[in-house]
Amino acid sequence: MTAPRERVCDQCGRWIDKGEILYEMRISLVAEPGPVIDLELPPADADLRREMEALIARMEAMSDEARQEASDQVFEEYSLVLCPDCRQLVHHQIKRRRALFGPDPEDQENSR
Ligand SMILES: [Zn+2]
Repeated sequence: MTAPRERVCDQCGRWIDKGEILYEMRISLVAEPGPVIDLELPPADADLRREMEALIARMEAMSDEARQEASDQVFEEYSLVLCPDCRQLVHHQIKRRRALFGPDPEDQENSR
């Protein structure tokens, strides 16, 4: 645990007493590399320059909100506080999904 935080559960909103364990849940939403950006066959230098200028102009024309949304689509990270009951719920949801759909293929790779 890093800096002290308010002891309010982000899931159910209840106060977490000093005698209870407070859990920090970190969530990273990371876009898998995909065909979002077309990097096929680079155009000739003059075309490349024009393409870059057009791209920069489009980005400058975006609102702060649109720019933030574009950024969030690639990567966003949250840190949530959970009470022991909500940690238990999250734990069971993950375990139940794993039981239904099997472990993550990457976990299998790591256990070999
Ligand atoms: Zn809670």
